[in-house]
Formats: sequence, C-alpha cells, structure tokens
Amino acid sequence: MIAENLDVEHNKTNAVGQNMYQLITKLYPICRSITGNGFRETLNIIKDYIPLEVHEVPTGTEVYDWTVPKEWNIKDAYIKNSQGAKIVDFNDSNLHVVNYSVPVQQKMSLDELKTHLFTLPDYPDWIPYRTSYYKESWGFCLTHKQYLELQDSETYEVVIDSSLETGHLTYGEYFIAGETTEEVLISCHSCHPSLCNDNLSGISVAVFLAQHLSKLSLHYSYRFLFIPGTIGSVTWLCHNEAQTRNIKHGLVLTCVGDGGKFTYKKSRQGSAEIDKIAEYVLANSGKEYEVIDFFPYGYDERQYCSPGFNLAVGCFMRSPHGSFPEYHTSADNLEFVKPEYVADSYTQCLSIIQILENNKTYLNQNSKCEPRLGKRGLYRAVGGQAEEALNELAILWVLNLADGEYSLLAMAQRSGMAFNVINKAAQALLKHDLLKEI
Ligand code: ZN
Repeated sequence: MIAENLDVEHNKTNAVGQNMYQLITKLYPICRSITGNGFRETLNIIKDYIPLEVHEVPTGTEVYDWTVPKEWNIKDAYIKNSQGAKIVDFNDSNLHVVNYSVPVQQKMSLDELKTHLFTLPDYPDWIPYRTSYYKESWGFCLTHKQYLELQDSETYEVVIDSSLETGHLTYGEYFIAGETTEEVLISCHSCHPSLCNDNLSGISVAVFLAQHLSKLSLHYSYRFLFIPGTIGSVTWLCHNEAQTRNIKHGLVLTCVGDGGKFTYKKSRQGSAEIDKIAEYVLANSGKEYEVIDFFPYGYDERQYCSPGFNLAVGCFMRSPHGSFPEYHTSADNLEFVKPEYVADSYTQCLSIIQILENNKTYLNQNSKCEPRLGKRGLYRAVGGQAEEALNELAILWVLNLADGEYSLLAMAQRSGMAFNVINKAAQALLKHDLLKEI
C-alpha cells in the first residue's frame, strides 16, 4: 500500500517543493539560537504543519557530561558612530551579532572594538555567522566592506540588548505510531538564525516528511526531533536512554536545499540497513551522489553514533557543511536554496523510507525445484499488459533468493532489478503462500 501512496506523492513533489520553500521563507527572518524565544517561535510555526510536542528543559540540568546552558534572548544590537548613525544594525541581519553575545553598552575606540569584530576578507559582501555558546563574550559580524569603512579617529557606541539568564532549553518532538514499536528517528538541528541550507532546508524536509507519513499506515513508528545542535541531542538521549533501544534506523537531515550533489554519510556501524538503502536509492536516483564513511565531526549523528549508543543513524545532505563557500555566511540565503532542490531531497528521503518500510526477508515455501507458477496464474497469465504485468523474471529471482538470507533489497541488488518490481513479485508470491515472512 505504502509503495503506491509514495509513488503518487512523487508526482506531487513540485507542489511540495514550493510549500517547503514557503516554510523556509517564513522561518528565515527569525533569530534562532540553541535556546530562547527564536527557537520557540520556530516550533510554533512548525506546529501549523504538524502537532509537535514542545519540551522545556531547565537551565542547569545535567545531561551526561554537559549542562543545559542559560537561555539567551536578544531584542536589538548595533554599532553607532559619533554622528549617531547605525553602521552595523541587528535589524538588517541577525547574523550581525555573535550568537549568544552577552549584553553590552559601551563607547570605545576602533582598536578596542576590532577585537570583537569578525569579517570574511575573501567574500567582502558577506556576513559571517559566529557563535559563542559556552564562553561568555560578545561580538559583531559584518561585511568586510563595512569593516574597511571604520575610522581610526572615531569613538563607537556599541549596544547589544540581549539577556543570558536562567531559563530553558526548548525542543520539539513528533511521534507517529506505526504497527511496531521499532522506530525510525529523523533529527534536524533547528538552532541556526537566518541561514537557509544549513538548518532551514533540513527542518522543512523533515516537516513535510512527517506531514506525509502521518497520513499513511506504517510498519515502523517515526520520531521527528527538532533540536538545538549538540546540546539538544545530548539532552534528548540523556532523557530518553531506554527509548533508544527501539531506534532501528535514523537520518539526520541538513544542507538539503542547495544545488550540489547528494551526500550520504554512513552511520558509525557502516553497513546498517539504512546505509545500504540510502546508497541504493542514490545509486538509482539518476543524480550525482557520494557516499562517505562515518567520521566523528558534523551534526547530531556524532551523538547518536557515540559508542554508548551506536545507533544506525546516517546523515543525509546535498553539499556537506564546510564544502561550499556560502556555508555559515549571509550568502546561505533564500537565493541559495531552491524549491526544486529541497523537493528532490524530499523525494530521495521518501524513497529511502519506502524501501525501509517494505524491506522484508522471506523464505521460499516450495524450495525444492521451482513451483508451478502457471497453475497459480503467476506465469504468462497477464501477458501484454506491460505496465501492470507481474515481471516473471522478478518472480523467479525472488523464489530463487528467498532462502532466508536475502532481504528484498539484497535481491534487488543481486538481480539488478528495481526494488519495487522485486517487492511486487514478492507480494504476489506471498498471496499464493509460496513465501513466508521471517
Ligand atoms: Zn551549522
């Protein structure tokens, strides 16, 4: 059933791409961080799409070797020259302030100010994105062009109207119950401010996957997490340690909105079912792709794949973090991501889920010589209907490989036939009691 529903969905991806891009556009202006009202506002908008459960974890809560930090909020920030003109203004771009800057209101010389300024000399029109979560400090990020206009003789007024106080860490969770308690985890960090590819594209694909899956009858249960990077997954894992035993497969989604080739980073296990399926889907997508081995740097897969958990969670991306110049700059904006790129990412993720849902292992119930297919209407019975006809070769492959060792995916790979064709043959054989699910 799900296979057909998903196929129909594939034809709707253009519309889905536009809707995902619209969500990115709504979330773009918000100044998010690992805690605070920007994160809450983001979850509130996501709630218009899926019924998220919002969790609040108090500052100071110990989570493994970490502590939930103070909550950060910001109202305004600027640098004024002596004429009173704002030469750097938080209202123009929330990237102008180093994320988690402590409050400051001070007049200072350019020399003093310079130690708090960050620019990108190689890209003089772009604003860098910088954070200081775990060390109390403050700073401004500006274009190198703005920086070059600063005057040695000036006295600058610096204001950051922020607060760093006892509060909460906020995250969103959405659970879709399937027919089994075994879970698929879909996780994305949601803590970056106005950055589209690194952050908003992953959120958007996750939201629309969740919305779509919630309408289907599913084998697995699905858990979607919208969390602040690192501290969010550490917190969730610490508070849900027993629950992690149910997680059989997972994907971290990020950087899925740019025009680069697909990249799948394998789980630490390296040959988990999700790793094999993701590679199979990309290899058959007709698109450029790369599969890379796990390494302990990147996003929340670092925590899910830490040795105490070692979950089968891979990371699905287009261009990986750090591999494109727009990464962590103001150029990772609404022009950099495109509806067709997020739509394409959504389609590949759905294909992965489609195979996960259907990748069963069967045992041939008539394994000594081939069963007589003709008398069961499984052979030459539906000739001429090329589209709908059962593929007889697929039937023979399934019967031959259904020795309990081959999953349907392994059969598809060995036979060189499409997973859907193999699955259809298996379902027909199952109806005739020629196969039994293991
Ligand atoms: Zn990032």
